[in-house]
Amino acid sequence: MTTNGQRLPYLIAGGGIGGLVTAYALARKGLPVRVLEQAPEFKEVGAGIQLGPNIFRALDRIGLSDAILADAWRPAAQEMRCALSGELVTRIPLGDAFLDYFKEPYAVSHRADIHEVFLQACLGSNLITLENNRRVDDFEDDGKTVTAILADGERVEGRALIACDGMWSTIRKKIIGDGAPRVSGHIAYRAVLKRADVPEDLWRPDVVLWAGPRTHFVHYPLRRGELYNLVAVFHSDRYVEGWNAEANPDELWAHFKGQRPEVLRMLERIETWRMWVLCDREPIKQWTQGRVTLLGDAAHPMLQYLAQGACMATEDAVWLADKVAEQQDDPEAAFRAYQEERYLRTGRVQIMARVYGEFYHARGVASELRNMMLSGRTPEQSYDGIAWLYGRM
Ligand SMILES: Cc1cc2nc3c(=O)[nH]c(=O)nc-3n(C[C@H](O)[C@H](O)[C@H](O)COP(=O)(O)OP(=O)(O)OC[C@H]3O[C@@H](n4cnc5c(N)ncnc54)[C@H](O)[C@@H]3O)c2cc1C
Repeated sequence: MTTNGQRLPYLIAGGGIGGLVTAYALARKGLPVRVLEQAPEFKEVGAGIQLGPNIFRALDRIGLSDAILADAWRPAAQEMRCALSGELVTRIPLGDAFLDYFKEPYAVSHRADIHEVFLQACLGSNLITLENNRRVDDFEDDGKTVTAILADGERVEGRALIACDGMWSTIRKKIIGDGAPRVSGHIAYRAVLKRADVPEDLWRPDVVLWAGPRTHFVHYPLRRGELYNLVAVFHSDRYVEGWNAEANPDELWAHFKGQRPEVLRMLERIETWRMWVLCDREPIKQWTQGRVTLLGDAAHPMLQYLAQGACMATEDAVWLADKVAEQQDDPEAAFRAYQEERYLRTGRVQIMARVYGEFYHARGVASELRNMMLSGRTPEQSYDGIAWLYGRM
């Protein structure tokens, strides 16, 4: 070992989507990595996730686009409909015209499928060590190396530490100390059905969003069309930490009462819902301290209304690996350069995700205005409107 820790591995706290894609991106630059994950295995549950063209731009850089697309579903369009009248508000084609414009596709996938692609990529690299039952509770940074302190007291030395420990990050608490995430007052109920359990007349190949007063309901196929993803969101003061709590269907029915039969019939198909209380944080400019930095939800947790949590974590990973490879002698400078590259983009997504939430849940005149604005748009104008997000990485 050299005195400034140059041969030591980069430590990553958390082996979710952000942690694994970061490990792989660093290993592709020839850098050794140890991933410390608190759970007994590397596994994801969850539900569907939308993948904008920006994530494929990042995945191309690490050679994983094809692997992600292999199990994904490529919807023909995104539709927004009024949940009260059934009226089509807007339809955005996602086929050839979209591909011509953005040069990358749009897809939907299961969270577990994306995680599995990243896991297999990591397992195929002899520069990456994956370790379970390793909860990082603290760290020490002496300016030359970083030591992660685990729940059982063990100390793991590394060249630098990247915290990919999610929305409730322990490491963020220490370096930013900005308290608990902001509870948005919105709750998501999620379920995944088998294709055969979706009535034939309700199955749609597109991403369909039913916008209602203070609610919305989204559905789309998953995993090559074998599954069907359902997410129902409504306003509520309830707060339960985490993403997988048992849901109460009575609460759901109270909020969706009076909506279109297509919505209600689909909601009736679900026997077990899982609940996810939506939280985010205010954007920040600095999430790096010395040899420690944050990535993904630990750095910039966002509401899911732009469907960008995993996309932003993947972009982060690719940028971070670039900056670290450019300044191998100075991880502190590399982490600052990564943060500088990312904070405005991720902050914009955090803020715009809130705006989209307001847009989807509009009532009265605001909803009429939304429908008027969106229904008058050509596909080109819709693409122009989201080019700030989809057009780069
Ligand atoms: C179940 C679920 C469903 C989601 N669905 C959607 C969706 O449909 N659309 C969307 O846009 N976004 C969704 N998200 C958010 C999106 O998946 C995340 O924004 C994205 O995956 C970024 O992940 P991350 O790796 O930063 O954090 P996470 O996915 O939360 O991963 C954090 C990892 O760190 C581990 N960990 C936590 N603390 C420690 C510690 N102290 N030491 C070691 N390990 C630790 C955790 O066990 C976990 O494996 C979902 C998130 C979850 C959890």
